[in-house]
Amino acid sequence: MTDVALPLPEPTELDEARHRELQILADDAVLKGHPYGDERCRNCLFYLDVDDSISYCWHPKLRVLVGADWWCQWWEEIPES
Ligand code: SF4
Repeated sequence: MTDVALPLPEPTELDEARHRELQILADDAVLKGHPYGDERCRNCLFYLDVDDSISYCWHPKLRVLVGADWWCQWWEEIPES
């Protein structure tokens, strides 16, 4: 049996392009991977499933998966009714 070193996986051009695209989106939203005081994705109007630690943000300018404890400048309180 011979040990053949397999090449390490590397990001493709598509990955680099998507990274740039998502970075622009995150910068525009001032998206952070931590809460802002009591404000966090889990208690934001746009967080789709509050029972999940990662869920879809349906804010029209984002529409990406976010973490429950993340935050962005478009955080919106959930109305009582
Ligand atoms: S709008 Fe911002 S704070 Fe609200 S769920 Fe989306 S990323 Fe989180």
